[in-house]
Amino acid sequence: MLRNDMLEQWDRENLFHPSTHLGQFARGEAPERVMRGGAGCFVEDRDGNRFLDAFAGLYCVNVGYGRAEIAEAIAAQARELAYYHAYVGHGTEAAITLAKMVMDRAPGHMSKVYFGLSGSDANETNVKLVWYYNNILGRPEKKKIISRWRGYHGSGLVTGSMTGLTVFHNKFDLPLDRILHTEPAYYYRRPDLDMSEADFVAFCAAELEALIEREGAETIAAFIGEPVMGTGGIVPPPEGYWAAITPILEKHDILLIADEVVTGFGRLGTMFGSDHYGLKPDLITVAKGLTSAYAPLSGSILSERMWKVLEQGTDQFGPIGHGWTYSAHPIGAAAGVANLKLIDDLGLVANAAEVGGYFVSAMRAALIEHAHVGEVRGEGMLCAVELVEDKGARTFYDPAGKVAGAVVAEMAKQGVIARAMPQGDILGFAPPLCLTREEADQVVAATAKAVNSVL
Ligand code: PLP
Repeated sequence: MLRNDMLEQWDRENLFHPSTHLGQFARGEAPERVMRGGAGCFVEDRDGNRFLDAFAGLYCVNVGYGRAEIAEAIAAQARELAYYHAYVGHGTEAAITLAKMVMDRAPGHMSKVYFGLSGSDANETNVKLVWYYNNILGRPEKKKIISRWRGYHGSGLVTGSMTGLTVFHNKFDLPLDRILHTEPAYYYRRPDLDMSEADFVAFCAAELEALIEREGAETIAAFIGEPVMGTGGIVPPPEGYWAAITPILEKHDILLIADEVVTGFGRLGTMFGSDHYGLKPDLITVAKGLTSAYAPLSGSILSERMWKVLEQGTDQFGPIGHGWTYSAHPIGAAAGVANLKLIDDLGLVANAAEVGGYFVSAMRAALIEHAHVGEVRGEGMLCAVELVEDKGARTFYDPAGKVAGAVVAEMAKQGVIARAMPQGDILGFAPPLCLTREEADQVVAATAKAVNSVL
């Protein structure tokens, strides 16, 4: 094992960390934390400090750390056949089995799954499929994609453009053309504090209609949204939001992409967020919870209506020109098979509903009276605490999230990991779906103590 000082030196000298203040990190001014092990909801750093990980890595280790069943499935696959590709009809038993398991769980109108590696590449695939679809249908003008401000859909060129958080655009010349943004379903941040929830839903729907009319429905191909917004602040939509949005999309023949990278496979207490909100998407993006991050794997799940058009396209124009070397990688697929089985065997979807509901209520009870806590919100095993400078006016404490960062640092001292969300002072929680009530209590107690000590 490397000595700690050497590890730190090599880290600062060689590794380019994502979403990091690079100068501060290289100069040793920003924290460095190297993890070494984990079991259940806990991770352990190189010095043996244990943390209750209330963000499940990056809301992805849904079954918890240290699951031997998944590790063994990965090892067995690597020994038997570490790789074979999925091009021109090739495959592996692991990939075929996982596809069957995903489709057995997906909403009934879905037809096929394309496997990639990350949420970003799956959304990239989805946009290409939407464009292909409209080209095959003979409407080459219908290409623009609408996403929402504060939505998160990845870090690539198209996906970073669809992401509606400006920190992911700045100095990267994003967003690209063809990508438009509309109002997010963020009732706490409604434009007028007197607006009722119902009026706000109507306002979001009207904003969407106005954008479609301004641009021309004949130019708009798809709308992408997370059933519950994640990285933008963990924001469940107000009552009736999706029921107001989807008829507008149908009316204008605009496809719906449900980005379920966070909500897929149980996080909301239902197998998919689409089940939770009664959505009938044309494409569903999945990643994180598909393997609980034991290996990189993502999926684009297509509806039967999209699939039929793709088939028609290849009959006319030949094989579809889209693929990654690692599409349907057997090691990722073996991890996925073991992971989905574990989710069933441990009843984790039901646990996310039950313990998640308890967790959000306990967090609300402990914090909502605090002078600088504006809102405590959540759904299933997702929770957010929004910190505000002035509770009445709902002013952000610090748009760069420095106060949330200080609270999170304080919580780490108590052995609990939460996330300061990237835009605004919002504490985010997305524990593994196996969280117990006792562990939920521990997270709530650490949060309350840290908020009271920082604010
Ligand atoms: N979509 C959503 C909703 C996400 O939350 C994320 C990542 O957090 C992505 C897409 C991108 O996934 P990845 O980081 O695996 O590329």
